Amino acid sequence: MHPLVTARAVDRAFDYAVPDDFEQRVVPGARVRVPLGAREVEGVVAAVEDGAGADLKPVLEVTGQVPAPLLELAGWVAADYGSTLARALALVIPPRPPRRRLAPSPYGETAAAPARVSLTDAQREALAACRRALEEGAHELLLHGVTGSGKTEVYLGAIEEVLAAGGGAIVLVPEIALTPQTASRFVARFGDTVAVLHSGLTPARRGAEHARIGAGEARVVVGARSAVFAAVPGLRMIVIDEEHDASYKHESDPRYDARRVAARRARIEGALVVYGSATPRPESWHGIRRRAALPARVGGHLPAVQVVDLRRDAGYPFTRPLLDALGAIEDGGGRAILLQNRRGAAGALHCRTCAHSWRCPRCDVALTLHGRAALVCHHCGHREKAPAACPDCGSVDLARIGAGTERVEADLVDRFPGLEVLRLDADVAATAGEPEATLARFRESPRALLVGTQIVAKGHDVPGVTVAAVLDAETGLALPDFRAEERTFSLLTQLAGRPGRPGDPRGRVIIQAWDPESRPVALAARHAVEEFLEGELQRRRELGYPPFRRLVRLLVTAPSQDVAQGAATALADAAIPALTGDAVLGPVPIGRLRDRGRSHLIVKTGDPRRAAAVFRGLLRDLAPDMRRADAAAVVDVDPQTML
Ligand code: ADP
Ligand code: ZN
Ligand code: ZN
Repeated sequence: MHPLVTARAVDRAFDYAVPDDFEQRVVPGARVRVPLGAREVEGVVAAVEDGAGADLKPVLEVTGQVPAPLLELAGWVAADYGSTLARALALVIPPRPPRRRLAPSPYGETAAAPARVSLTDAQREALAACRRALEEGAHELLLHGVTGSGKTEVYLGAIEEVLAAGGGAIVLVPEIALTPQTASRFVARFGDTVAVLHSGLTPARRGAEHARIGAGEARVVVGARSAVFAAVPGLRMIVIDEEHDASYKHESDPRYDARRVAARRARIEGALVVYGSATPRPESWHGIRRRAALPARVGGHLPAVQVVDLRRDAGYPFTRPLLDALGAIEDGGGRAILLQNRRGAAGALHCRTCAHSWRCPRCDVALTLHGRAALVCHHCGHREKAPAACPDCGSVDLARIGAGTERVEADLVDRFPGLEVLRLDADVAATAGEPEATLARFRESPRALLVGTQIVAKGHDVPGVTVAAVLDAETGLALPDFRAEERTFSLLTQLAGRPGRPGDPRGRVIIQAWDPESRPVALAARHAVEEFLEGELQRRRELGYPPFRRLVRLLVTAPSQDVAQGAATALADAAIPALTGDAVLGPVPIGRLRDRGRSHLIVKTGDPRRAAAVFRGLLRDLAPDMRRADAAAVVDVDPQTML
């Protein structure tokens, strides 16, 4: 008998002999120490084969066992995302526990548990829906609740019941650094039985938390996407808070989506996934029939939304209604959040007179400006000349989109000397500890403006926010991505959820838009989530986008654009015969990034696993050629970004 042992360090499987002492324990999923060249590495037994292994090196030690459900899950991740078993196993293997005992984690010292609230009728019904789903063995439930409707209280109640029945739970949150309150509410309710996993943990602390989880001491795990792999014994429930958030997709190999992994894991282990959001994804709305709703805010109203037409109100990025609202804060105190979502380097063209935007006739995504002269579709490669005048209204007042957050910040400092102006965007957030520090200053300042990219729209629970505004609702719509409408709608709705916490005066939301009638803007202003989702699903059905077909993206980078495009074309030509029934869009050059030329192609398919396997196989065969040309390729199943 000899096992094939696979290890992250080498990403391949090797054959070993099994000493008699270990025979019982060397089974698939066993964690072992093995010699590899001059080193010793840790690996996992991928398979066991019969036969004498006299000429093989022996397994040195059996150190543990990957739980069977997680072993199965890793196999699924590897196959579904076109990765390798070694890489997928690395996700489910907990880090080593530290040798010495650590002091209790900072989350353990949170202030005394807040008084229990008594649930509203809607919350009680949602909780009953969770209970029924568990009893009936359902695996998915969508909790659609407007911002501030008390979803977290429902999660807490449901998990309390899971714990009482002897089970365990995982709570996924988008990014703990930005939403520490959510994690601390679980600690406040359940105390020591909560493990909080976040990116700021030291390796020793991480190891200690995983040891508590594995031992069954911590039965509630709160963490970002990778916590979906936590080895919670007796898992009964996985909560995915803010399920629409793009951070649930892992952006390096294996490029898994924690939402789909959770669904799979729930099926393997007989657990229930509760997806919660104020703005569910069209995929979830379509696919999850079991739903519970929290239609109203607890102790408050949704804020009044005013849409300001940028074609009529001059002064972009600061129109009169916005200046007046900020002036009122300067005089009377309060806090405002201003969103200026200028993301990515891609430029777009836009008519300032009639709000016409240039879109691909075949893919219905915004065309991207290449240089000054060309408009290109990043999905299919459609290309047209950048016009001098608007085809709808004849205006020559055409704008490139985007005044960045830094300029907005500087302008605000000049205009409102009496206000503390703070900025939060990807540049600021990249500094360790910065987002929390900026948010803390914002929370404490009596008169403050927080300017930033989409980070500022997320669920920070800041009291006293009286104004939330978006300077240009269309920036996101210009992104060359079929999810641009969904993202814009979700962002506007989330932003509109910031003012008016319980006890605050009714807040005010100002949306500045070039085209107030566009669906994402008009429907967000009316809080019309279901109407938006139904329309979006219809559009996607017509165009063959998810959830009706799935996408697989192949991205090739190389020192020059020509080499990237050449390699992508060769890969496409080789793949197409194997992709019967699939639509292959591109390859399209999509512009340089970090000094590399880039090309991508997109496959619309009913069988993403096959498409991923086809590309993986080709890339393995072509690896020497690719290396010679200094080209690299990424296969992305269910891509969340097309940039
Ligand atoms: P969501 O997660 O839907 O945004 P939260 O669970 O954070 O909503 O609730 C919003 C606010 O309302 C929180 O401050 C929470 O403590 C409070 N809250 C929730 N449910 C109740 C309730 N039944 N009674 C009183 N306050 C509540
Ligand atoms: Zn026009
Ligand atoms: Zn196109």
